[in-house]
Amino acid sequence: MSQAEGSRMKLPLVPLATLIGRELRKEKVDKPYVKYGQAALAKKGEDYFLVKTDCQRIPGNPSTSFSVFSIFDGHNGISAAIFTKENLLGNVLSAIPQGATREEWLQALPRALVAGFVKTDIEFQQRGETSGTTVTFVVIDGWTITVASVGDSRCILDTQGGVVSLLTVDHRLEENAEERERVTASGGEVGRLNIFGGNEVGPLRCWPGGLCLSRSIGDTDVGEFIVPIPHVKQVKLSNAGGRLIIASDGIWDALSSDMAAKACQGVPAELAAKLVVKEALRSRGLKDDTTCLVVDLIPSDLPVLPPITPRKKPNLLGSLFFVKKSQNSSSKATKKTLSALGLVEELFEEGSAMLAERLGKDFHSGKDSGIFKCAVCQADQSPSDNKPANSGPTLQTPSKRWEGPFLCTNCQRKKDAMEGKRPNTPTVAA
Ligand SMILES: [Zn+2]
Repeated sequence: MSQAEGSRMKLPLVPLATLIGRELRKEKVDKPYVKYGQAALAKKGEDYFLVKTDCQRIPGNPSTSFSVFSIFDGHNGISAAIFTKENLLGNVLSAIPQGATREEWLQALPRALVAGFVKTDIEFQQRGETSGTTVTFVVIDGWTITVASVGDSRCILDTQGGVVSLLTVDHRLEENAEERERVTASGGEVGRLNIFGGNEVGPLRCWPGGLCLSRSIGDTDVGEFIVPIPHVKQVKLSNAGGRLIIASDGIWDALSSDMAAKACQGVPAELAAKLVVKEALRSRGLKDDTTCLVVDLIPSDLPVLPPITPRKKPNLLGSLFFVKKSQNSSSKATKKTLSALGLVEELFEEGSAMLAERLGKDFHSGKDSGIFKCAVCQADQSPSDNKPANSGPTLQTPSKRWEGPFLCTNCQRKKDAMEGKRPNTPTVAA
């Protein structure tokens, strides 16, 4: 018998209730205070936001609380923004297996976010309305921050080490070559608006539809290569805390990440959001809806975020943070560097627009029970009963068509459409 085994056997048995109690107390001490502020100026009235600080992983158990902060910047109307605000959180949570521990829950969250975004998009498109929305959706559980986004409403992180980094990716055709390639490969055309004399004006757009964004929720009248599959990034802060600034493009068209962080440094979150909006207005005027949420994660033994230490070469550290642009989770080297600096531990990052890559192959689909649960919409379907709710062309059993998890016929059709494998057929004519 090894020494380790010997010493383990000598440990007295601790009752389970005591262990759980210890865990709860530890979690309570380890959890940051979450303080936030919000400010907005409307030009078109298409920005919406969601703040929910009383969510619970296990309903009825306050020690499992988490917070959600989200911004929805609508276009061509407000219905997609409102629908997403009302339905997205529920759709994400329903995609997380029940009975998960905190660790499992956090690990399942990135995939659940993908499923929730796609489900919300399908449900909205079935209503036959034509508006669309960006979404930046932030889940805070303890020191772990998970951000899912489509479109160009950014979320930045200002750590107490004085490093400002971007947690989202801009899905703008003008700035994202990878997305231009994907849209073109899926059957869309990318180009600028033509005016008299053949002069091209404005940002790059995709046609049909003329949208400047490559990902959104809604946009039924635009090609289905405009996908709702979010970029997801999950990080864990050190217990020094940090500040998130989540805002619509009205802010980011006026201010860089560093400028926004600087505009509100050392000021409580409630006031900080107002200062960021004021600074954007000062530099650019009110050209667009401008919405800002500032969220502080504050060590529980401090009343406010501690004073900022002087910035330590933000550009160098900022670039370290973004060393990897890969589709998969972070490189060990980056993780180690950031951990060594005690700033941020990068847990997960994935931005692929391919559903198969995002849902993985090992998704539990209830195959044991004979009933298949769709990995996107969570609907139960037996493989023989493969008729979609709103009937379309009959397809083969989806599980035979690809290696990924089971998808119901409806979600399989959506997947094919997003990949340009069938012509765009809007569900309802205008
Ligand atoms: Zn489904």
